[in-house]
Amino acid sequence: MTALDTIQKLGILADAAKYDASCASSGTAKRSSKGGKGIGSTEGMGICHAYAPDGRCISLLKILLTNHCIFDCHYCVNRKSSNVRRARFTPQEVADLTLTFYRRNYIEGLFLSSGIIKSANYTMEQLVETARILREDHDFRGYIHLKTIPEADAELVHQAGLYADRVSINVELPTDAGLTRLAPDKNASQIEGAMGGVKGAIVQAKDERKRFRHAPRFAPGGQSTQMIVGADSASDSDIVGKASHLYGRFKLRRVYYSAFSPIPDASAVLPLKRPPLMREHRLYQSDWLMRFYGFAPHEVMQATEADGNLPLDIDPKLAWALKFREQFPVDVNRSSREMLLRVPGLGTRAVGQILASRRHRTLRLDDVARLTVSVVKIRPFIVTADWRPVLLTDHANLRSLLAPKQEQLELFAA
Ligand code: SF4
Repeated sequence: MTALDTIQKLGILADAAKYDASCASSGTAKRSSKGGKGIGSTEGMGICHAYAPDGRCISLLKILLTNHCIFDCHYCVNRKSSNVRRARFTPQEVADLTLTFYRRNYIEGLFLSSGIIKSANYTMEQLVETARILREDHDFRGYIHLKTIPEADAELVHQAGLYADRVSINVELPTDAGLTRLAPDKNASQIEGAMGGVKGAIVQAKDERKRFRHAPRFAPGGQSTQMIVGADSASDSDIVGKASHLYGRFKLRRVYYSAFSPIPDASAVLPLKRPPLMREHRLYQSDWLMRFYGFAPHEVMQATEADGNLPLDIDPKLAWALKFREQFPVDVNRSSREMLLRVPGLGTRAVGQILASRRHRTLRLDDVARLTVSVVKIRPFIVTADWRPVLLTDHANLRSLLAPKQEQLELFAA
């Protein structure tokens, strides 16, 4: 086999990393400027965007150290039994690429993951060594996100957190049964054990830095994880339950949802079709309901349909409101912040502005209209000084009136 040059390896290992959603945006249309038409592309590989701990959107070099792997996860294009072209970088090569791209202003950091070579510990050592070269040999101060391997020794995972801004450990599938079936080399309790270790180290480092200014940082951007949606029979209810468990127990910064996409040379145990991308979008919306809108996990689950999945035609907040119509209309001049956040179409910013404005005057429908994208969608759920809707319970066809006809209606917009 002829040796691959750096560009060839980059092509293979950046492409292999695209299946990891932990820092990716999804749901966009495919566009490219191939053929000399236009400028830009949504299909390029290698550079992705992520949000830094301070909220800035930053560009990252997103690659695998290697796509060789001794594990055989059915959903993964890099699994042992797959026929894909393989490549491998050394830690020094990844560090050099990162520094070169950084100096040219292409990127502000690195997102590094890897297939497992030789053993979990050996692979983790290579990941840590890459970060060490960048931080210690080159005093690299850009952003580093390291995927950590739950099967590796806790001490190696700890070292990763000392160099990285953020670490992540993929939980992979929403249920233990799904994990056993589709990722037979992985173990749910080992994954949660590693997450628990990272959480403990983050808490301890924060505590020490309060007392000693120069105590070392540990993953200041926290930890995140990714769940694959649609590769097994887990419902949205299962996924929401798992996500809330992970947020609660391990204080994760983010749970990412990645719609399973059929891979070349796929295993026979996988579905032939990918789930609708809208399903992934609805799960992100439900995640926001729990993190920013005060919904308890069981309330999000109440928005699901008989099959346990969130409706695709309307967002989960509207679905919940239509199921619990007796909670509406909500008086924008009197109701609590918690109830205002339940109104479909009212975002957190609009609710903040309503609360601030109503201290000085009584709000009318026009006032609310100025704060929202579409007051027509909100009207059935609110009372203002000059507006009172028909009771929702008397409105049999409300869902069909509010569901978007062709394009996705964004009911979370403020
Ligand atoms: S451990 Fe599983 S998911 Fe990760 S690269 Fe190997 S086969 Fe893919």
